[in-house]
Amino acid sequence: MTSTLNSPAGTASDTVPTLWHWAGGTRVKGTSGRTSDVTNPASGAVTAHLPLASADEAAAVIAAAKTAFPGWRDTSLSRRTTILFRFRELLNARAGELAELITAEHGKVASDAAGEVARGQEVVEFACGIAHLVKGSATENASTNVDVHSVRQPLGVVGIISPFNFPAMVPMWFFPVAIAAGNTVVLKPSEKVPSSALWIAELWKEAGLPDGVFNVLNGDKTAVDALLTNPDVKSISFVGSTPIARYVYETGTAHGKRVQALGGAKNHMVVLPDADLDLAADQAVNAGFGSAGERCMAISALVAVGDIADTLVAKIADRAESLRTGDGCRGCDMGPLVTAAAQKRVSGYIDAGVASGATLVVDGRTGEFDADAAPGSDGGFFVGPTLFDHVETEASIYTDEIFGPVLSVVRVDTYSQAVELINANPYGNGTALFTNDGGAARRFQNEVEVGMIGINVPVPVPMAYYSFGGWKNSLFGDTHAHGTEGVHFFTRGKVVTTRWLDPSHAGLNLGFPTNA
Ligand code: NAD
Repeated sequence: MTSTLNSPAGTASDTVPTLWHWAGGTRVKGTSGRTSDVTNPASGAVTAHLPLASADEAAAVIAAAKTAFPGWRDTSLSRRTTILFRFRELLNARAGELAELITAEHGKVASDAAGEVARGQEVVEFACGIAHLVKGSATENASTNVDVHSVRQPLGVVGIISPFNFPAMVPMWFFPVAIAAGNTVVLKPSEKVPSSALWIAELWKEAGLPDGVFNVLNGDKTAVDALLTNPDVKSISFVGSTPIARYVYETGTAHGKRVQALGGAKNHMVVLPDADLDLAADQAVNAGFGSAGERCMAISALVAVGDIADTLVAKIADRAESLRTGDGCRGCDMGPLVTAAAQKRVSGYIDAGVASGATLVVDGRTGEFDADAAPGSDGGFFVGPTLFDHVETEASIYTDEIFGPVLSVVRVDTYSQAVELINANPYGNGTALFTNDGGAARRFQNEVEVGMIGINVPVPVPMAYYSFGGWKNSLFGDTHAHGTEGVHFFTRGKVVTTRWLDPSHAGLNLGFPTNA
């Protein structure tokens, strides 16, 4: 990526490069005069300035996508699929470059970044089968000599607005399917992690995607509002925090768009007394502290049922204390939080947890972090793994989505109390049950009001050919991402009724047509 930074669209006048938008198959320099800083969270260094689009710049990017739509819509499925396969091959060959960009801007460790790219790639592979996925149906002789068939057609320009925590995977939940189905895309990545989207844009070009089919609009609320209100944008796929998801859903639908807006989460992991406690402790640590807890599927509340809590908490504490936190490029287990503000927010939650009376078993505010501070900065944005026990459900560490490496253990007496807790929670993204009792598992998956369930699987992210999405405040709209629901979201149905033979002239008849 460094080699691409001194481009005509960027500026190299200071040592920190300025990034660009991507529209019509080329880099476009920002002209609004507004920028934000992109940082390396492991060192605190500012690594790029990002142009934040004005409403006029956003309109120009949307116009580039609109111009490209008719040609792409009419490109044969065979040609579209060939380009998707080429994109897949290029991404397979260069996945490491993308993973490095993710670590540099998000902070997650290298193996986690590689995993993110791999899960995104699975959606590209799913979208390579688009010819099968958009097949319509046909009925011969629905009425005498009358045939009926249905097709699914692309929407037009589709908007994707993504969060910081998966700079590549979350956009890839949507754009492979959207593009394969014949739409043109404007992606507004998180301003904290913009380089992955720009890298992907250049990869699409190399794969032979026509100019204007995939565009990147960098910016903040101004860019988002432009997407939500522009009549040429036909749909919005949003992923981010719940308040913004609600706003995006309400504004986008008020402007006549179909909207899927995936929001925040508070995921519970229930451990029943019969569970393998070593397995449960390993998975609680993996799911609680992986990506420093900055995953919408992270486990942040562990519900210990019955008398296992003392043993389980001790096992989790041992494992949490053995983790090495530091620069994601150095083979550490856990990286930094994304920004200094996130570090401050998470530390504040730990303070509040202590004040609430919960037992702080492992304190992530202190400790050694394996990283170098950038000159002139305060260093990386680290908080170590943090474990609370005896957490009350009124405490903010339980009620709020912390989005950091803070795991709260809540103790209950029965399975039913555990399910009641989950069902009373306003979020419903993911949940997991650890047990050796098949009957309990069967009951749990049936009763729990959550969109994605893991049985002895702590982070139950569905495969690309199933759909990803939560319930309640974790999703606004009714369509999940990718899988057949994704194909449905990015296409609209049309039904054609045809008569060629014996057009039975019965003269004028103004009655409603009936079938015979
Ligand atoms: P965020 O809501 O702050 O930002 C998401 C996007 O919205 C970004 O592109 C941002 O630029 C834009 N945005 C921010 N403020 C805005 C405003 N006032 N008006 C219009 N647009 C605005 O979320 P984030 O901090 O980037 O990501 C973390 C959140 O995303 C967490 O809540 C996490 O649970 C959630 N998330 C959910 C899923 C899911 O599948 N449900 C997946 C990943 C992340």
